[in-house]
Amino acid sequence: YFVTPESMSDQDVLLTGDDAHHAARVMRMEPGDEMFVSDGQTRTARASVRAVSPSRVEADIVEWLPMSGEPNWSVTVAQSLPKGDKMELVIQKGTEIGAAAFIPFESERMIVQYDAKKEAKRLERWGKIAKEAAEQAHRSRIPRVEAVRSWRKLIESVGEYELVLFCYEKEGGSVGAGIRDAVQAYRSGERAASPRVLLIVGPEGGFTEREAEEAEAAGAVIVGLGKRILRTETAAMVGLACLMYESGE
Ligand code: SAM
Repeated sequence: YFVTPESMSDQDVLLTGDDAHHAARVMRMEPGDEMFVSDGQTRTARASVRAVSPSRVEADIVEWLPMSGEPNWSVTVAQSLPKGDKMELVIQKGTEIGAAAFIPFESERMIVQYDAKKEAKRLERWGKIAKEAAEQAHRSRIPRVEAVRSWRKLIESVGEYELVLFCYEKEGGSVGAGIRDAVQAYRSGERAASPRVLLIVGPEGGFTEREAEEAEAAGAVIVGLGKRILRTETAAMVGLACLMYESGE
């Protein structure tokens, strides 16, 4: 279970809300049963249940554990805001594959109308999906889901990453070759032990040539994901999986 850092002391941990309900009612935990808990940031532990009620489960820390399931490469998926609930799919599957963060962004040919009024509610839902996916994938960290960014702001943030990959449907090549070449070129230069990588994926309508040029001018490497045009959510997963493979994670 992931708990807030405040719910975890050096000696014990407290589950409340949905987590307490899940432990008490779904898992039918009883005193003496063990579970894994994490604050979603730096601390993970094995804990032994002390007291159970449907709204509160208390457990004693038995042993602190090293981080598990966390790749060395920190990959942020920048996904042009897709329609319907596709962003949820990108966050859920991307978390399982190993993404460190998600940045939804606006671009010229995106087909949804971004509604700032719905932002807080959506961010809360996306955060919940990341948490549940991280739990199911046995990760120690919950990926961050950031607020929707403009194209301009996204391009301005490119300098924060050691490697930036711009997935461009017009690039072609074979699946994985573009990412392999970009990773090899990065490795042959001066490189960080745990690089921050930004993977930029376009909307249903694709990227414009101008966006591709701006991304390249900002320092991004243009990569293809094969000869077939993938749906936007598929492209994020394929790009991420190729990156995890190439980074050895
Ligand atoms: N119309 C489809 C849809 O509704 O999802 C396909 C959209 S595709 C143009 C969306 C984005 O996925 C592209 O802008 C690009 O970032 C990425 N993508 C899809 N296929 C790709 C490929 N073969 N190579 C590189 N990027 C690709």
